[in-house]
Amino acid sequence: VSISEERRPVSRRILARFVQLLCTMPSLSVTRRHHYLALSQGDSVQVTYVWIDGTGESLRCKTRTLEQEPKDLEDVPEWNFDGSSTYQAEGCDSDVCLLPVRMFRDPFTCDPNKLVLCEVLHYNRKPAESNRRASCRKVMEDVRDLKLWFGMEQEYTLLGFDGHPYSWPQNGFPRRQGPYYCSVGADRAFGRDIADCHYRACLYAGIKIAGTNAEVMPSQWEFQVGPCEGLELADQLWMARFLLHRVCEDFGVLVTLDPKPMTGDWNGAGCHTNVSTEATRAEGGLRHIEEAVEKLRRRHVRHIGVYDPHGGQDNVRRLTGLHETSSIHDFTAVVAHRGASIRIPRHVNQEGRGYFEDRRPAANCDPYAVSEAIARTCFLEGDTG
Ligand code: ADP
Ligand code: MN
Ligand code: MN
Ligand code: MN
Ligand code: MN
Repeated sequence: VSISEERRPVSRRILARFVQLLCTMPSLSVTRRHHYLALSQGDSVQVTYVWIDGTGESLRCKTRTLEQEPKDLEDVPEWNFDGSSTYQAEGCDSDVCLLPVRMFRDPFTCDPNKLVLCEVLHYNRKPAESNRRASCRKVMEDVRDLKLWFGMEQEYTLLGFDGHPYSWPQNGFPRRQGPYYCSVGADRAFGRDIADCHYRACLYAGIKIAGTNAEVMPSQWEFQVGPCEGLELADQLWMARFLLHRVCEDFGVLVTLDPKPMTGDWNGAGCHTNVSTEATRAEGGLRHIEEAVEKLRRRHVRHIGVYDPHGGQDNVRRLTGLHETSSIHDFTAVVAHRGASIRIPRHVNQEGRGYFEDRRPAANCDPYAVSEAIARTCFLEGDTG
């Protein structure tokens, strides 16, 4: 028996493992999928309904065929789903309604296919508990004349399947923070493919994405949406989050919006919320910004309660006063200061008009709840809610 024959089974085993690994690599299945997506779909259109589930944090979706391309929301029928499987109903009475509210182009299956963001309603047409959009919509209608704009900075962290940050050493840590924010280079910008592909997917879908950058913690990134008026910002941000999860799925990478994924000397993840009205944007608008900030000061505790999905508990881990945050117990408003609750950008202070930034919302916040709270506190006369 020659040495090479003895070794053959071993090398065959290794080869088999290698082939198996390659075949399960997401990038290869994406290449394979390309063939099927190039097939003609006739006149039929695939419409994917997207909604927030009972956790108030996770998204769900399902797809149906329409006979022709929907031109606007009126062409997209209501639908339903099994709410007992999404923490949104009891098993005995589980049909829950999907109300289409905003339509986007589908960047995964491409034109003419659509993604449709939906509100979740119970059979009696009352909004589900996780549906924070319904009340947000009413408040935004009440303040419509102010031309209230929001822009949100969504920070997120990429993880491997072991739950450890993506590309971090398996049983350890990368070099301490410093080189990673807005970085370039294979030893510091981990996961740029995902940020880049997500950016394009957003542009294709019709999301008003303002930009993206690598964050202070390695494998943490940010994208910004806005400015958009009233309700639209939160709609767009939720769909941008859906696109992010979906892009990461293609890359076989996990994404978390947890506001403090790594304890220790690592930055957390926020969802800074930038706010302006016609008055703050106009000549001398700084005075109106200061008024709004004083109202926020009086309701600090209440706002902390809606700035993450667990009544402020998630932000306890993040708003420590370190790592470019203010302490959860204090309210501060300072020009150009990233350790404040509210930051007034330097250029806004110089020009005497523009917008302010509320740095308290956690990365996993519900943008409907956050924008509604800000609108109520700052701009709804006599609001006691
Ligand atoms: P930084 O990291 O310095 O806090 P970014 O550039 O990441 O700022 O984000 C700025 C955000 O402010 C973007 O989401 C943008 O849409 C938003 N924004 C810009 N102008 C306005 C405005 N007038 N009103 C509300 N939001 C705004
Ligand atoms: Mn079924
Ligand atoms: Mn930013
Ligand atoms: Mn940031
Ligand atoms: Mn910011």
